[in-house]
Amino acid sequence: MTVSAPDPVVDTLFIVGIGLIGSSLALAARSRGLARHVILYDADSTVRSRARALQLGDVVDDLAPAGTADLIIICVPVGASGAVAAALKPHVKPGAIISDVGSTKASVVAQIAPHIPEGVHFVPAHPIAGTENSGPDAGFATLFTGRWAVITPLPSSSPDAVATVKAFWRGCGADVSEMTPEHHDMVLAITSHIPHLIAYNIVGTAAHLGEVTQSEVITYSAGGFRDFTRIAASDPNMWRDVFLHNRDAVLEMLGRFNEDLSALTRAIRYNDGEALFDHFTRTRAIRRSILAAGQDTEAVDFGRHGTVKKEQ
Ligand code: NAP
Repeated sequence: MTVSAPDPVVDTLFIVGIGLIGSSLALAARSRGLARHVILYDADSTVRSRARALQLGDVVDDLAPAGTADLIIICVPVGASGAVAAALKPHVKPGAIISDVGSTKASVVAQIAPHIPEGVHFVPAHPIAGTENSGPDAGFATLFTGRWAVITPLPSSSPDAVATVKAFWRGCGADVSEMTPEHHDMVLAITSHIPHLIAYNIVGTAAHLGEVTQSEVITYSAGGFRDFTRIAASDPNMWRDVFLHNRDAVLEMLGRFNEDLSALTRAIRYNDGEALFDHFTRTRAIRRSILAAGQDTEAVDFGRHGTVKKEQ
């Protein structure tokens, strides 16, 4: 599908994996004229049919057309990154850029880098934007607007390729930042991965409480529980891979989390109201600074659907 665009970032964009992120990228690229030609591929033929019906772009049945692309973005669960890069290798043209959107970076770099052909550029990236929905129907063009896109270039990444990937994400409406893959994984472990683990855990615990309690949990869910259930509805494939592929950083942060939880447990056990009050006052200040930074609204929805940080 050819798009009339006055000033596209790349001529041909090829997206592998047509889920929430891949379909949102196609819609953002087309609506903002970031590529003249948007081609999509997914391993699942049902997903490809759906993507055709949704008119997300030119949907192809194999990876060979990736050979025409200037920018290829891998949008599959992180555990499948290496296999996709290996399958792309025979097709990619010299000078092309391969990027990705994976929620973990060191593991993705380790999986993809060995399959980058000579003369092809690799620039890993991760948009900090998502919802609990998955699949091609979940995508929308404004998913990345006002969100961060973290680029994690390698020492070998060409500055021009890095600049193109940054321009692409800015074109999607995102703000761009840069960090090493290892630093990214540590930051995301505490800001995204542990919160998801807590949500999966608390919803699982409630589900184990038995029939009567379960129905009460649902009836009175507005007390805070329902926001955890939204996060705990996130895609099981994706999140299994995130925890397995960011294991070290998650375990490090989980260790600190458990120590702090023990301190709160002790404060409750020994009626230490001052310790609880001080802790809750500190966390309230953090919440206020997140609101002040425009990273969430007052709406209680984990910030996923609300108005977001203004574009810069
Ligand atoms: P998704 O909605 O589940 O879509 C992933 C798609 O990739 C599925 O259609 C899947 O097909 C397909 N796929 C799997 N293996 C493939 C392969 N080898 N070749 C081609 N296609 C393949 O997932 P998503 O939410 O878009 O996530 C995609 C990536 O974005 C992940 O790496 C995730 O970490 C990252 N990310 C996600 C979010 C979020 O909030 N969802 C946010 C930022 C970044 P099947 O269904 O048949 O497996």
